[in-house]
Amino acid sequence: MQNKTITLPKLTNLSPTMESTALKLMEETGELAQAIGKFRGLNGETVDLAEEQVVKKITEELLDVAQTAVSMMFVLEEMYGVNIDTALEEHIAKLAKKGYL
Ligand SMILES: [Mg+2]
Repeated sequence: MQNKTITLPKLTNLSPTMESTALKLMEETGELAQAIGKFRGLNGETVDLAEEQVVKKITEELLDVAQTAVSMMFVLEEMYGVNIDTALEEHIAKLAKKGYL
């Protein structure tokens, strides 16, 4: 099984909640969709950005999504007693059961 491991920080200068992180996640996924669609001209508008700039923007927005997801994991652990390590094991098992691995 090939893995991609990234480490993202807890944003200690913020006071996130489940609701604020969920809304932020939607905001960031919207920005990712914009980078993939609008900045590549899929909406019919003229594109001024070079392909390399678009891919950089897509990557930046994807990392914003990942950071927000990690922030929500901290919230679930600290405010709702969720064990993310256990949840991760269950997630991997689910993927295997579905035949994705
Ligand atoms: Mg963003």
